[in-house]
Amino acid sequence: METKSLYIHIPFCETICKYCDFCKVYYDKKQAWQYLEVLSQELRSLPVDFPINTIYIGGGTPSAFNDEQLEYLMDHLKPYSQGVKEYCIEVNPESMDLYKLKILKLGGINRLSIGVQTFQNHLLKGIDRHHSQQQVLRLIKQAQQLGFSNISIDLMYGLPQQTLTDIKEDLKIVATLNIQHISYYSLILEDHTILQYEHYQPLDSEQEYGLNVYIDDTLRNMGFYQYEISNYAKEGYESQHNLAYWHYDNYYGIGIGACSKIDHLIIENSRSITNYINHNAKNKVIEQDKEETMFNHIMMSLRLNEGLDLERFYHLYQEDATVLYQKAIHKNIDRGCLEIRNNHLMTTKKGMYLLNQVLLDFLE
Ligand code: SF4
Repeated sequence: METKSLYIHIPFCETICKYCDFCKVYYDKKQAWQYLEVLSQELRSLPVDFPINTIYIGGGTPSAFNDEQLEYLMDHLKPYSQGVKEYCIEVNPESMDLYKLKILKLGGINRLSIGVQTFQNHLLKGIDRHHSQQQVLRLIKQAQQLGFSNISIDLMYGLPQQTLTDIKEDLKIVATLNIQHISYYSLILEDHTILQYEHYQPLDSEQEYGLNVYIDDTLRNMGFYQYEISNYAKEGYESQHNLAYWHYDNYYGIGIGACSKIDHLIIENSRSITNYINHNAKNKVIEQDKEETMFNHIMMSLRLNEGLDLERFYHLYQEDATVLYQKAIHKNIDRGCLEIRNNHLMTTKKGMYLLNQVLLDFLE
């Protein structure tokens, strides 16, 4: 299988959010330069199949870089971004301005993913996010004026002190924005996060389900269709890069904590920035056997509304998934969690919500 997607991890953040368990470090100007240098070496070492379809610069906070560092990154990615279909970068409102937007536009970025989480200033403070609703609105307006026509925002529900009224207010603002994509996550209390140390009680499953249904319905009425458990898009604006993960295509990942998938191999980069900038990062190579590869493919694809393409599955593994997983599939069709349509195995709304339980049956 060709490898047509590239992920670049920028781990720097100016502040650390209370719920975060991503691979990140505090921004330090000197270290950021050292990181960029090693990153560009790692980039050059990739046996890339040109042209690449998607490039995604994530973090961390890529916009934590100063102007010169962002320009450096854009310059070094230029040879890889020629002919790319989707070229996306994650940005945080408090570290963006018009000049940085222009750098990204000139660099060829054609999709912005903005970390918003909520538009309610009092809630943002509670999770240690250092931007305001006004900054987000200004950033979106400036980006649109510069010609960015594919803008995604991240939102969250289940935040500390967040009420249904807050969520309704967030959705009312979304309706005014003319954006194309929303990633809407339920807050998951991860280990070793500040919220966990503060003994925050996340939503119970009933509350979570109720809010999820409300958000789905409201976004659908605004023209956003849910194409993945946590992702909504106007037609034609689904995240092409993330679809590569969910279709279990190959991809390269560079930078600390990044991961590549090349056929049955998973290559994980070390999470230590010190090791990385000292060229000591030992990659961990996991060789998946056929069963693991097929299971992981199913696990990723069932997150999508379109589900698993059974014909492609057969083409890749010479196995008929409906025969191989017959027991799990029938059990979950009977309890209303799975269905087969147009040669795709897909979850129902109930199945999407109970996906972890559904997948356990595929492991048996
Ligand atoms: S900005 Fe993103 S990566 Fe950085 S601490 Fe917050 S959630 Fe984590």
